[in-house]
Amino acid sequence: MIIFGVRGHVRAFESGDPASAGPHAKMAQNEVVDLVLPTDNDALFHGGGPAFYQYIERDYKGVKSTPWEGGQYGFVRDPVETGAGIVYTRFHEGIDIRALHRDAKAEPLDEVRAIADGKVVHTNLVPGFSNYGKYIVIEHEWGGSPYYSLYGHLGAIDVRVGQSVQRGQHIGVMGYTGQGINQERAHLHLELNLMLSHRFEAWYDKFHKHDPNHHGIYNGINLTGLDIARLYVELRQEPSLTILQFLGKEETFYKVAIPKSRHFELPKLYPWMLGSNTVADRASWEVSFTRSGLPLKIEPSARRIRRPEITYIKQSPVDTSFLTNDVAAGRGNRAHLTEYGKQQMRLLIWPD
Ligand SMILES: [Zn+2]
Repeated sequence: MIIFGVRGHVRAFESGDPASAGPHAKMAQNEVVDLVLPTDNDALFHGGGPAFYQYIERDYKGVKSTPWEGGQYGFVRDPVETGAGIVYTRFHEGIDIRALHRDAKAEPLDEVRAIADGKVVHTNLVPGFSNYGKYIVIEHEWGGSPYYSLYGHLGAIDVRVGQSVQRGQHIGVMGYTGQGINQERAHLHLELNLMLSHRFEAWYDKFHKHDPNHHGIYNGINLTGLDIARLYVELRQEPSLTILQFLGKEETFYKVAIPKSRHFELPKLYPWMLGSNTVADRASWEVSFTRSGLPLKIEPSARRIRRPEITYIKQSPVDTSFLTNDVAAGRGNRAHLTEYGKQQMRLLIWPD
């Protein structure tokens, strides 16, 4: 369990020079999100497109295509024809970076590196245990909050759990482990995530008991990804950009009221979501989410509720189930959480 205040203090103490690096100085220093790309492929900074993103294989109504757009972050997959045109219903939580280096047998050789200073917290060595195949999760700390970069479909993992790594340090080799990938489509799947709950394992066992969890709290379901491509590009223009400022530009797609609970961990992990609000003496919280379910903001509310419920959803020309990864369904005043949506929201306050 991460208690951010204590942890920040311990780190500052360990830095060895209390005069120049007290808790405050360390905090300010850590605020800076200093990222490098994880492979030699830097085409993202020259327009992105097919030179950067690995294409996907699409079969839409019997027509086969290989759009590179499917490798981007966002709702870029599984097109569905609706009354309001084609809607891409499946969310891709990270970016797929294509290989630049191959050996004579076309095996990918690209070195994979840590995108920032951090600590290795999880390695999945058994490809069949995850859609991500072999993957690594590294914990980073910026502004006192934890963030998790995830490197999927690896061919080799060259770090161990507990190991500290530096920005740009070799951690593995690109591959094509995991579901639905082949040698030709070898790529690195890269995410940058927030964590939802350290009680994830108990929640998972309740709702997914037939599918064992081999990843502890570092299961992809417990990690919610931000738009890492946009973050890279904007950090280039504005190196002092914070995660708070970055997420401030994301649109709120829906808001959910969450019953008051001492297990609600988001405001402890990411106090910036509270802004200047305090959580005392209120009946519930209202959490703002992006379309993909990334939490952006937490506001106290006087509303008395027993179960999470939708309090706002953006107007849309199609049923919101197409737009929200099935977290919500219906439209306008009749929008509501699906069973799946209710489960997801309960994770935030589990075991309540
Ligand atoms: Zn991917």
